[in-house]
Amino acid sequence: MSETSKPGNFITQIIDKDNESGKYGGVVMTRFPPEPNGYLHIGHAKSICLNFGLAQRFNGQCNLRFDDTNPEKESVEYIESIKRDVEWLGFEWKEEPKFASDYFDQLFDFAVQLIQAGKAYVCELNAEQMREYRGTLKEPGKNSPYRDRSPEENLAIFMDMKAGKYSDGQVVLRAKIDMASPNINLRDPIIYRVRHVHHHQTGDKWCVYPMYDFTHCLSDALENITHSVCTLEFQDHRPLYDWVLETLQTAHPQQIEFARLNLNYTVTSKRKLKQLVDENHVSGWDDPRMPTISGLRRRGYTPNSIRNFCERIGVTKSDSVVDMGMLEHAIREDLDANANRAMAVLNPIKVVLTNYPEDKEEIFTVNNHPKNEEAGTREVPFSKTLYIDEADFAEVPPRKWKRLTLEGAVRLRGGYVIICDEAIKDDSGKVVELRCRYDENTLGVNPEGYKPKGVIHWVSAKHAVDATVNLYDRLFNEEAPDANHEGKSFLDFINSESWTQISNAKLEPSLLASENGQSFQFEREGYFCRDLEEQGMVFNRTVTLRDSWAKIEAKGK
Ligand code: ATP
Ligand code: MG
Repeated sequence: MSETSKPGNFITQIIDKDNESGKYGGVVMTRFPPEPNGYLHIGHAKSICLNFGLAQRFNGQCNLRFDDTNPEKESVEYIESIKRDVEWLGFEWKEEPKFASDYFDQLFDFAVQLIQAGKAYVCELNAEQMREYRGTLKEPGKNSPYRDRSPEENLAIFMDMKAGKYSDGQVVLRAKIDMASPNINLRDPIIYRVRHVHHHQTGDKWCVYPMYDFTHCLSDALENITHSVCTLEFQDHRPLYDWVLETLQTAHPQQIEFARLNLNYTVTSKRKLKQLVDENHVSGWDDPRMPTISGLRRRGYTPNSIRNFCERIGVTKSDSVVDMGMLEHAIREDLDANANRAMAVLNPIKVVLTNYPEDKEEIFTVNNHPKNEEAGTREVPFSKTLYIDEADFAEVPPRKWKRLTLEGAVRLRGGYVIICDEAIKDDSGKVVELRCRYDENTLGVNPEGYKPKGVIHWVSAKHAVDATVNLYDRLFNEEAPDANHEGKSFLDFINSESWTQISNAKLEPSLLASENGQSFQFEREGYFCRDLEEQGMVFNRTVTLRDSWAKIEAKGK
């Protein structure tokens, strides 16, 4: 679907109006402004789809801008991962990526302008005093004793701050707005601070750094952003942005807030995701159980499925929690339509066809996709000894059993009907091998009067490819892991069964030719993708065929 034919939302309506009134001359310029202090997650995908989508819909452009005002927490690794993720999602930013640090000179000049206009002052209150003077939601703040310094004195100290004559935290530059404002953001917020740290972009050039709020609105203005779209928590910051932009008489982007994406059974806070990584609860930012874009990619999610998901959840102004089932539905739907089928036996048990000639081999040609002929066919070898899944045999079958049992018949997918004669057990009584007969008249047909109950998947033992298969499930077993649970942290809700590894899976040989990252439906097992990083045969379960969590929830109610 093209962007223009998609349904609109309250933001597209605002832009339609602006275009009618000529507010920005019909220009639409948006940006996606991550802080490079972690990897992007599914919540960011919503913001990316929205910002880049608006630019596409209105023939405008979208910048990628790193809001890099916190060098201690940022890194080039994060910057590179963010670029990769945005591109992978299928979006193109205008020109080179931008950095707020590109504007440090201009931001410094803006701060000087504020000082000269008597709208900013250097304050020497320490952090604790600053808190005391700030007041509370109910009580107004008090003016700092440094508030009435002359512009000349302020400027001289500010220059000394830049020259490195002050230590971290010793002094700050504050906007002079209103200590009695009901909006705490307007109570003389800090706009510059001293930090003697190396910056990944500007090196050791600066030892004063602008604060996020001051930087963000001015960076938008400098880039001639028309519609500055952000999440609801910035609503209370808008008056500060307006004050800065009006006082400095710059371009004035329209800020529009929308509700952030919250997803149940996971956390979408970079800080918490970083904690999961740093404390080794997961294997890294791209662990396939992480809600990061890189984790989802490694899990086997496609860009298309994530974009569809973001489209469906819509853009509103009220906070809500989206069900993880919706994200899983989006990938199931995409892979059902687009992933080739293949056979993989995850828990193999040997089947010997007693009446099949010892050295005979056959090749069956099977469709890659049941609903899409264009997906073509592949060849699957067949021989006397096969593997089927342990779970597809039951000596004492439950009611309505449609798989293999003693003296029962079942069809092998794309092959013959087999009948089980004997189950061989080891000393502990565990079934280790099945002796079966095949019916040579049943290849692709059911002779009259013949009704095998079910169809199971299989792999020829001598042709089988050994593989490691990672079965992933939701990382948390609690709907709201980061809600306030008395005395418990989100870490207490990690699902101990979120990762099971099978090291002896048997795959049909066609999978040897698969590429890293390629997705398949392993028949009757789920959707899997070949791991992106591992060289060997390693497959990750992206999602099961059906939503098993919906059942669990329904049962619990
Ligand atoms: P976190 O809360 O995970 O630390 P953040 O908001 O600090 O995220 P930024 O790098 O500042 O992360 O985010 C870049 C952009 O993505 C911002 O415009 C932000 O509003 C948006 N964004 C972040 N989280 C979400 C979310 N859950 N849903 C929608 N947009 C989001
Ligand atoms: Mg942020």
